[in-house]
Amino acid sequence: MDVKLQEKLDALPTEPGVYLMKDRRGQIIYVGKAVNLRNRVRSYFTRTGDTRVFVSLLDQLLGDIETVLVHNEKEALLLENELIKKHKPRFNVLLKDDKQFISLRLDRTQAYPRLEVVRKYEKDGARYFGPYSSAGAIRETLRIINRFFRLRTCTDHVLANRKRPCLLHQIGRCPAPCVYPVPPEDYRRSVDEVTMFLEGKATELVEGLRLRMKRASQELKFEEAARVRDQLQAIERSLERQKVATTDFKDQDVFALYREGDRILFYVLWVRQGRLNGGQAFPFGSQEFPDAELISSFVNLYYDQGSFVPEEVLLPLEPDDGTEGLEVLLSERRGERVRMLVPKRGEKHDLVQMAVKNAEQAFLERRRTKDETDGVLSRLQQKLGLRNFPRRMECFDISHFQGSAIVASQVAVTDGETDKSRYRKYKIKTLEKQDDFASMYEVVTRRLKRGLEDGDLPDLLVIDGGKGQLASAHAAMKDLGVEKVDVVGLAKSRDLEVFDRDAESARSPERVFVVGRKDPIVLQQNSAELFMLTRMRDEAHRFAITFQKQVLRKSRVRSALEDIPGVGEARRKMLLRHFGSLKRVGEATIEELAEVVGPAVAERVHAGLHGHPEEDVEDPVRQASLDDASEPVDEKSQGGSPPGAA
Ligand code: SF4
Repeated sequence: MDVKLQEKLDALPTEPGVYLMKDRRGQIIYVGKAVNLRNRVRSYFTRTGDTRVFVSLLDQLLGDIETVLVHNEKEALLLENELIKKHKPRFNVLLKDDKQFISLRLDRTQAYPRLEVVRKYEKDGARYFGPYSSAGAIRETLRIINRFFRLRTCTDHVLANRKRPCLLHQIGRCPAPCVYPVPPEDYRRSVDEVTMFLEGKATELVEGLRLRMKRASQELKFEEAARVRDQLQAIERSLERQKVATTDFKDQDVFALYREGDRILFYVLWVRQGRLNGGQAFPFGSQEFPDAELISSFVNLYYDQGSFVPEEVLLPLEPDDGTEGLEVLLSERRGERVRMLVPKRGEKHDLVQMAVKNAEQAFLERRRTKDETDGVLSRLQQKLGLRNFPRRMECFDISHFQGSAIVASQVAVTDGETDKSRYRKYKIKTLEKQDDFASMYEVVTRRLKRGLEDGDLPDLLVIDGGKGQLASAHAAMKDLGVEKVDVVGLAKSRDLEVFDRDAESARSPERVFVVGRKDPIVLQQNSAELFMLTRMRDEAHRFAITFQKQVLRKSRVRSALEDIPGVGEARRKMLLRHFGSLKRVGEATIEELAEVVGPAVAERVHAGLHGHPEEDVEDPVRQASLDDASEPVDEKSQGGSPPGAA
C-alpha cells in the first residue's frame, strides 16, 4: 500500500459514516457503512487469520478511500443505499430493478373493493398480501377467490361507467355492484372472508362459512347452501396445503446466506401469519467482502426497494454493526416496532435453518443450470465456428408498419439468461421508407459506436434475417473497425414451395448464416443451441413490435388530437403541459380533461381519442376468460418491488 493511502487510513475518523473505496483509476469499487469508520476500514487490512482473496485483492486494487460522515447509523444506512444505487460498485450486492415480486392489494376503504395484482408495496392504507414468488404461485389463490368469494374483478373505471353487468354476474361470480344497489354490508362480508382466507385464518373462516351453510339450508335456500359448501371444500383443500411454520402467527422474513468462494446466494423466506408463503433467491458473483457486512447491506437494499416490512426479521448471523441501526430504520418504514433477531435455538432458529437449506439448494440448482448453459454455449460456439465464447449475445430485429414507423429492437442474453438491462429500442433516423438492410446497418452502427466509446461490446450479434441483413450488419462492423465481435444471421423457417412439399413437412428448418460461408448452417432441430437462438430472436421480435405499437399509438393520439374541432395549437399545448405526455392525455378522464380545457371541449377530446364511452367498458367475455384462467386480474404497477402482507 502506498504511503499516501496509509496516511489516509491512519487519519480516518472514528465516527459513523459511509466509506467509498476507489480503484487506481478512481472508479468506485465498494461502498460500505460503519458505526466507527476507522475501525471498520482498518479491519480489512489487519484481519488476522483471514486468508480470503479479498484482502490481497484490495491491496492490489485500492487507489483511494473517501469517507462521508453522518450523525448516526440510520443515516449511514440510508446514504449507503443511495451511493450503491448511484455508483453500482462491482463488489457490492446490487438488486436489479426487475426483482419485483407479485402481491395482492385490497383497498378496504372502498365500498366495493377488488383484489389487484401489484408489484410494489406502498404505504397507502390498503392491505397487501404476499409476496408470491411467481405468477404460478398466485394463480391457485386467485382461482379460488374469483370463483367462490364473489368480489368484482373489473377496474374502478369500469365499475363507475358500466351500464349493464358483465358475464361474471351472469355466471354467479359477481353481485354486480356496477349496476345494482348491492348492500355494502353484504359485499363487506365477502371482503372479510377474502381477507381471512389470504391471512390463512382457517378456523375462523371455516366456522363462519359452516354457520352460513347451516342457516341457508334451514331457510331452505339450497342453492346458496350448496355454493357455500363448495366454497368450504375449496378453502379447506387450499389451506391444508399451506404449511404452518410457527405457532405465534407472525409476519416474518427469514434471511439466509450461502457462499462458495466469491459466489454467494441470499435467500428470503416469507412467513405470513405463521404460514410459509414462499421465498426468493438472490444470487451474486464477485462478492469478496465479509458475510457479516454483506448481510447488513443486502437487508438494507432489500427493504429499500419497497418490500413489505414484517414484524420480525430473522438473520443467520449478526451484522457487523449489530442489528440496532437496521431495526430503527425498518421500524420507521413499517410505522411500528420491528424486531431483528439472530436466533440460536427454538422455532425461529429452525426457520433460519430452513432458509439456509433453501439457499444451498437454490445455489446448487443454479450451479447445475450454469454448467448446462455453459455446455450449450460451448456447443454453439463450436457449431457456428465462433471466435468468442458467446457469453454475451445481443439480437437485433427491424419492424415497421406498412413501410412506416420503422423501429428496431436489441435484446440481450448473458450466460443464457435474458439481460433486460441491456435491452434497447431504436427509431430509425436516416430512412423515410422501409429498407431492412439499411435499417440494420444503421442500428448496428449505433450500437457498436456506443459500445466502442464505453468499452462495452457483446461476444456475438444475432441478426434476425438472412444473408442480406447479415451482410448489412457485417458492413457496419467493418466500417467501424470492430473485429472482435462475432455475427450471425438467423433466418426463420419458411413454407416450402409446393413441389418441395411432402404431406408431413411443409416447412424448411431454421438456418443460421455465417459471414464468409455460402450455405447456411442448419442446427439440429429441437436442440438446446437452436432453442437458445430462436428464443432470443422471438424475444427481439416481441420487443420490436411492442415498441412499434407505442410509436404508432403516440402518433395516432397526436394526429387524433389535431383533428378534434376546437382544439388548436394553444389547447394542445395546454393539455400537453398539464398532463406531461400524449399518453397521459389519452389516459385522462373527462373530468380531468375538463379541468384544463373546460367540460365541452373535454368531452370532444375524450370522444376523439376514445370513441363513445360505452366502448370503453370491460369486455365481459375477456373478463370471464381471465377469471377461468385464474390470471391476475389487473396489474396496478410495473415498477418497484417486493411487497407483502400488511
Ligand atoms: S362489470 Fe362485471 S365484474 Fe365489474 S362489477 Fe359489474 S358484474 Fe362485477
